[in-house]
Amino acid sequence: MKSVFWLMGLLFLVILCWGSIMLSYGKNDKSEKNDKKPDVKLKPLNAAEKAVIIDKGTERPFSGKYWDTFTPGVYYCRQCNAPLYVSDDKFKSGCGWPSFDEAIPEMVKEQPDKDGVRTEITCNRCGAHLGHVFRGERLTIRNTRHCVNSISMTFVPDSSEEAGRAIFAGGCFWGVQYYFEKEPGVIKTIAGYIGGDKPNPTYEEVCSHDTKYAEAVEVFFDPKQTSYEKLARLFFEIHDPTQVNRQGPDYGDQYRSAIFYVNNEQQKTAEKLIGELKEKGLDAATEVKPAKRFWPAEKYHQDWYRKKGGKPYCHIYTKRF
Ligand SMILES: [Zn+2]
Repeated sequence: MKSVFWLMGLLFLVILCWGSIMLSYGKNDKSEKNDKKPDVKLKPLNAAEKAVIIDKGTERPFSGKYWDTFTPGVYYCRQCNAPLYVSDDKFKSGCGWPSFDEAIPEMVKEQPDKDGVRTEITCNRCGAHLGHVFRGERLTIRNTRHCVNSISMTFVPDSSEEAGRAIFAGGCFWGVQYYFEKEPGVIKTIAGYIGGDKPNPTYEEVCSHDTKYAEAVEVFFDPKQTSYEKLARLFFEIHDPTQVNRQGPDYGDQYRSAIFYVNNEQQKTAEKLIGELKEKGLDAATEVKPAKRFWPAEKYHQDWYRKKGGKPYCHIYTKRF
């Protein structure tokens, strides 16, 4: 009888071990797939790029291409072309490397540096080494400095034909973001505030109606896969552009319909589409204004519907063109 119990115990142990091996195999398999990221195309790197991006070196201060540039535009990962930083967040630090007080949310990863002191920053998509992040220096309102090697990035000015940045305000940003992040060719969307002057506004301040800010969505897109015009048409079809200082059940100037253009082409496109809507009898109240600084909203507002599930209460797709 004892031997039967002993055999059953052994069998139980074998099953337990086999189960945990399979479980860890499954985990490894998953993380391996994540690490490979087969959809990301990596650009070949020259020796100088490799020394920083792969071997985690540092370019000499005041030697890089972008340490003193402040042209409006977007800084992309040199290796995988993911959008990393916007010129809005770049500031003069005097350190000799491009300095930003915030990265595009979720695009830059922080990890302890091997030196045991600093915090390394890498591209969250391909792992390219970017530089280090420092906090507590009191250089800007965000009290943060992303110190980035120029050679880890490629800058695309907003004025160029390859520009892939658009800003739309059409009521509650949860609903606008819901539609844009599903759109093919869109790489990244951010819910935020634009149109006011107070630095680093909070949701409560924007809701007070004293700041002139509108809830808006900043859209980063691949101009090879989609176009500004296509996105602007979508914008007019996911909200009601005839409503003034409201959208659906949301009332207030922060819910106004507005396009904030980053270059003249975007302005022309926006005005052309408003003209088309007016010809169709739709009296669009959409403001067309040059982009001011865009401030990302609090973390809990980002990707609201993707994280919480459900569909927007405030935005419904309606074909208008
Ligand atoms: Zn990258």
